[in-house]
Amino acid sequence: MSAETNVIKSVEKRDARVFEMIEPMEHEQVMFFYDKETGLKGIIAVHNTVLGPSLGGCRIWNYENESDALWDVLRLSRGMTFKSSISGINLGGGKAVIIGNPKVKRDEAFWRRFGKFVDSLNGKYITAEDVGTSTDVMSIVMQETKHVTGKPLSAGGTGDPSPFTAYGVFLGLKASVKESTGSDSLEGKKVAVQGVGHVGHDLVGHLTKAGAKVFITDINKANLDATAKDFGATVVEPNEIYDLDVDIYSPCALGATVNNDTINRLKCSIIAGAANNQLADENIHGHMLKDKGILYAPDFLINAAGVINCYREVHALTEDATKALIENIYPRTLEIFKKAKAENIPTQEAAIKLAMERIEAAKGKK
Ligand code: NAD
Repeated sequence: MSAETNVIKSVEKRDARVFEMIEPMEHEQVMFFYDKETGLKGIIAVHNTVLGPSLGGCRIWNYENESDALWDVLRLSRGMTFKSSISGINLGGGKAVIIGNPKVKRDEAFWRRFGKFVDSLNGKYITAEDVGTSTDVMSIVMQETKHVTGKPLSAGGTGDPSPFTAYGVFLGLKASVKESTGSDSLEGKKVAVQGVGHVGHDLVGHLTKAGAKVFITDINKANLDATAKDFGATVVEPNEIYDLDVDIYSPCALGATVNNDTINRLKCSIIAGAANNQLADENIHGHMLKDKGILYAPDFLINAAGVINCYREVHALTEDATKALIENIYPRTLEIFKKAKAENIPTQEAAIKLAMERIEAAKGKK
């Protein structure tokens, strides 16, 4: 067998695995991109564009392997479809991940090249910031494409969406407390916040202002120190966060922290946070939480304020109209809890059902 045939065969094998991952989640398009000059390497996943162009942030992360990166972008883009649908905005779900490499310089050429790849999709995917990217990055990306949101205020954008996300998470968390206790007062409630980056920091601000006692953890000392100093929160070790005797666990770092191990350890009665894809396996862990009596506020529902704010840039919404969409997170969260109770299903499943109903109706299937 020639060397050339060998190469083709291995590519075919990898393709087969890609489609095994894509088909069950029903993605419309997945683009792998690589640029030799800058070392830029990543994936853009367009999950669903029934309600509008797909929009989702660009994450840069040092993935252990390429499969992890693909899995991440597929799950995140699917979550964006649900997020926009349930929030009542006319956007589809998409996401970009860049495979971090400490040897690669993330300079202007790097981000311009990313902008060119986004542009090549002709508006089917609109980018924004996510973990590892910022409004500064978007101001470079916008030199190469108009399909970008979360632009700096100085460039006519709406700036970092994180403060909006934090406020939306706060509303969803309050609605969860209301469902659980009959009152949405946070006075004296104990909350464990995992990850105090852009969103977590501001969320801790809202929580402490509302009278909650907040415990925080992070692997980034600077972020931890800043949040502790700004709001007087109590610092705990990263692995301690699951064992605390608290009312609410708020994951605001990365996904999949609600899993077989942590569900057994958690003592809280509510999980409500900003991280995407909190349930390691939504088919298993939604049921486990329900059985344990832990109320779960679906992540894509309560962390939607950031994308709602990006939508403002795409559709030139007024500030009041944007605010109304964000405030709607509170009643929408209560609506999901009601639906889950009535149908005796996990809250995540109820939220996905509602999101899909809107998409199916838009397709004209109903
Ligand atoms: P960020 O990168 O600013 O903050 C994340 C923080 O989590 C960092 O401080 C990081 O050090 C910390 N962290 C990472 N691993 C950790 C671990 N194992 N234990 C403790 N801390 C850890 O990101 P962000 O913008 O604040 O977003 C936080 C989460 O919310 C992400 O999952 C993101 O996808 C999601 N989200 C963000 C927005 C937004 O508007 N920024 C919108 C929707 C969802």
